[in-house]
Amino acid sequence: MSTTKKWHQNRFKTSRRSFLGRSVGAAALGTFWAEETIQAYQGNVRTASKPSDLRITDLRVAHVVGAPMRCPIIRIETNQGLVGYGEVRDGASPNYALMLKSRILGQNPCDVDKIFRRIKQFGFHARQAGGVCGVEMALWDLAGKAYGVPCYQMLGGKFRDKIRLYCDTDMSRDPKVYGERMKARFDHGYTWLKMDLGIGLVENIPGCVTRPAGVTQRSANQVQHMFTGMELTDKGAELMADYVGKVREVVGMDIPLAADHFGHIGVNSCIKLGKALQKYNLAWLEDMIPWMHTELWKQITDAIDIPTLTGEDIYLKEPFIELCKNHAVDIIHPDLASSGGLLETKKIGDAAMEYGHAMAMHFAGTPVSFMANVHCAAATENFLVMEFHSQDVPWWHDMVTGIKKPIVDKGFAAVPDTPGLGIELNPDVIKQHLMPGTEYFAPTPQWDKDPVNDRLYS
Ligand SMILES: [Mg+2]
Repeated sequence: MSTTKKWHQNRFKTSRRSFLGRSVGAAALGTFWAEETIQAYQGNVRTASKPSDLRITDLRVAHVVGAPMRCPIIRIETNQGLVGYGEVRDGASPNYALMLKSRILGQNPCDVDKIFRRIKQFGFHARQAGGVCGVEMALWDLAGKAYGVPCYQMLGGKFRDKIRLYCDTDMSRDPKVYGERMKARFDHGYTWLKMDLGIGLVENIPGCVTRPAGVTQRSANQVQHMFTGMELTDKGAELMADYVGKVREVVGMDIPLAADHFGHIGVNSCIKLGKALQKYNLAWLEDMIPWMHTELWKQITDAIDIPTLTGEDIYLKEPFIELCKNHAVDIIHPDLASSGGLLETKKIGDAAMEYGHAMAMHFAGTPVSFMANVHCAAATENFLVMEFHSQDVPWWHDMVTGIKKPIVDKGFAAVPDTPGLGIELNPDVIKQHLMPGTEYFAPTPQWDKDPVNDRLYS
């Protein structure tokens, strides 16, 4: 045995030494890696991209409609030809992103957290966060492309190779029909279902909903749940539970089945309904009351024996931590396009885990925001399941290239290993679905300058 070979064997026996120490030492001898391997490895390093010199030069929008929702995709351009994609939350104004353009021009997009901390004052709950979150997604996409790594890797690596999805399904007043529609999702490979379960099912049946004359589910839509004066009777709660029972007869008791869109009823009615639904073991009851009422949420959660969930309209980690610290809901449900983007949502998941709570993810949008969610879900240990709204939109997958199709396959999304979010846009398809009167990434020079003092403290 040669001296060099013995040396190597001894080196490998000392397994507590760092890999870096071994490889540098051995590579110095020219024997650990063959020269060709080293050359090939070097060939994969994007030395030409010069990430430290990367600078943001532009921000433009392509406003997609019918996906099935309205979704402004943003493109951040740089001085090195690299572009990054992000997405303003569904239904929000693209101006939320455009007003950030003057704040990020000239910045290095790889300094994701630094830029996020500078712009996060311009976000707020629900769709007002859409601009900050869309920009954050695009920054990660650029950083990943500049350094040649997928976004999940920059978040700390992945816990899973594919992301479990749940799929919404068009409601029917006939529970058998609704059950069959959901069973079709199950047959399509989905392993988690969600249904709508609103008081609209029973509000016109005498004796089901107690309320002031003239108040309806529709008219109370913009009034917080506790202030509508609408309360379910025992009969109303039982009829809604019977409806779920008939759906369960079709889909069975084994598959997780969540419920959402209950209508704006008071806390006591939420508890009454929750108790009536216990025998059907729903996976969660979603947004029964507004997310900010932590103590009221805790009353509901403590009173019933099926999980509660909220969070799709919360901006930043602090309100999630408040909910989890108080064990006010069982599961949190951030929408990454409102909650603060990839890194903030990973922090939200990690914080929830500290308190023993799982994280499901709300999502409605194009494959751009979808992939941001996929990377974050891959990198967050207590992730449970992520929403998908576009099962019935045939061109949804065609909006992007560079990724294995279909993006959603048998109820799961594979986590890609390509740099950044792992997608490029398909202009031909997106141009067919632009908001009428808008152009594909039209110039936005009117947003270049905004001479203001943004400081938060003196
Ligand atoms: Mg919801």
